[in-house]
Amino acid sequence: MEHLLTKISCNTPELKEKALDELKNVCLQCKACELCKTRTSVVFSDGNPNAKIILIGEAPGADEDATGTPFVGRAGQLLNTFLTEAGFDRQKDFYICNTIKCRPPQNRVPTNEEKLACQSYLMGQISIVKPKIILLCGATAAHSFIEQDFKISQIRGKWLNIFDDIEVMPIFHPSYLLRNHSLEQGSPRWLMKKDLENVKNKLNELL
Ligand code: SF4
Repeated sequence: MEHLLTKISCNTPELKEKALDELKNVCLQCKACELCKTRTSVVFSDGNPNAKIILIGEAPGADEDATGTPFVGRAGQLLNTFLTEAGFDRQKDFYICNTIKCRPPQNRVPTNEEKLACQSYLMGQISIVKPKIILLCGATAAHSFIEQDFKISQIRGKWLNIFDDIEVMPIFHPSYLLRNHSLEQGSPRWLMKKDLENVKNKLNELL
């Protein structure tokens, strides 16, 4: 995976924002896969380009397609609650994007061809932002970075060695947590809380 990251020298916040704006402008015109025909918006990113954490989801849903912003629907609102409870500020502490930037019809899982077509935008975002931590939110995002077969429940909460100098952790997608309400010890919501506490501790170690 490391080889997919371009060496981009953005030494100041201003240069980083400029490089991301340029990449976004290319992405907004993109017709590299069939999803360009059905999208309303290209959903590029949200949050802070100078954040130390990138959170990567699956793909835009209906609310995201309508607004052009990732994680703004019910799942995004639940994610916000978890982030706030863990002591994070979404807009300051995270740069948020998706594996693919256009909504698949009926929210189906993106195909491998679509993920491949969109990969250069995601890798560009990581190269420019240069985070210390990447959170892979849900199975689709995790499968884009891990070749072996796995269930998200087996690998969530683990620190993975995928990139030099970047700590990577898969976590549950909030849409899965919308279907699992229990807060009991060992439940998905309880595990998400523990994972984000772990991320907070790791960030404090790395700063
Ligand atoms: S999903 Fe990605 S590759 Fe496909 S049209 Fe949208 S921006 Fe381009």
